[in-house]
This record gives sequence, C-alpha cells and structure tokens, in this order.
Amino acid sequence: MSVSNKYITGVYPGSFDPVTRGHLHIIRRASHIVDKLIIAVSDNTDKTPLFTLEERIEMLQDDIDNMSNGCEIEIVTFDNLLVHFAEKVKASYIIRGLRAVSDFEYEFQMTGMNAKLDPDIETLFLMASGKWQFVSSSFVKEFSSHNADVSAFVTPQVEERLNKKFKN
Ligand code: ADP
Repeated sequence: MSVSNKYITGVYPGSFDPVTRGHLHIIRRASHIVDKLIIAVSDNTDKTPLFTLEERIEMLQDDIDNMSNGCEIEIVTFDNLLVHFAEKVKASYIIRGLRAVSDFEYEFQMTGMNAKLDPDIETLFLMASGKWQFVSSSFVKEFSSHNADVSAFVTPQVEERLNKKFKN
C-alpha cells in the first residue's frame, strides 16, 4: 500500500520473453510500492520473440498467481507508445529494473524522452538485486537452446516451456 491516500498505479513494461526470476523480483518489490501494478507486455514488431504474446502472458500469469500481498496486479498487452499507454491507464509511475551499466544508456534516453512527452509520469528505477543482476531473457533463451540448466533463472513452468520450444 502506498503512503499517500491517493490510489497509485504503476506500469511495469517489458517483453518478458520469457519472464525470469529477475523480473519476478522487480514485480514483487514494485507491488509493495503501488496499489495497482499493470504489467504491460509489449507487442513490439521490431523484435522477433521466441514466445507468442499469449504464451508470454500465460507464463507471467502463472508466476504471479502466488503473489498476493494486497496489490492489484494486472497483465495487459500494449502496442502503442509506452507513455501514451501509461496516460491511458492513469499511471503515476513507469517502473523499470536496472541491471548493469549497460541498461543505463537506453533507460536514460527513454526516461528523458518520456518525461518530455508527459512530465507528470515519473519513471521509477528499481536496482536489480545482486542475485538477479546478471539474469536476462536473452541469455536464458541462449542457454536453454544449448540444453543448459536454466532452473536457477526461471520458474519450473517457464523452464518446461523453454524445453518444449527447443525440442521442436
Ligand atoms: P525490454 O524489452 O523492455 O528490455 P525485458 O522483458 O527484457 O524488456 O525487461 C523488462 C524490464 O525488466 C526492464 O526494465 C529490464 O531492465 C528489467 N529487467 C530485466 N531483467 C532483469 C533482472 N534480472 N533484474 C532486474 N530487472 C530486470
């Protein structure tokens, strides 16, 4: 629950291709900050995802089902500009996870551009915890495609889906 009386909505956008334990840690932490967390799964046609939009949503849904701490969590897709989406859902915050320095440049530019379009929407960065600092969906996919054990980085249901994908 937020400290003010205002009902606060945050948007956590991403590709989630697939959701990792790093993402889940950010979701858990963000859910203590906002009253409603909208996990916005991007339908970005520039990237060719391994998992369909439906599969990515199903995996997220499965993983957040056990996360009940009073925060309302909703998973939706978006294919418009993030800041326009955030305005549409009346979000006060865009939430992003920050891993290494490599994330910084992109996030810095995106935050600056978004702030120009709508200065009322604040971007909130949650620093990745040491444990998940190195985890990325891209490496999880690469490791899994070479039959490496990714159980430390994703939940069992995601691992199972990865195994199925790479068997076919
Ligand atoms: P995008 O395509 O927007 O980078 P991702 O699904 O890769 O989407 O990531 C969504 C958000 O989660 C981003 O803010 C990213 O920095 C953050 N994130 C990804 N992996 C981790 C992790 N291991 N720990 C913390 N934050 C992470």
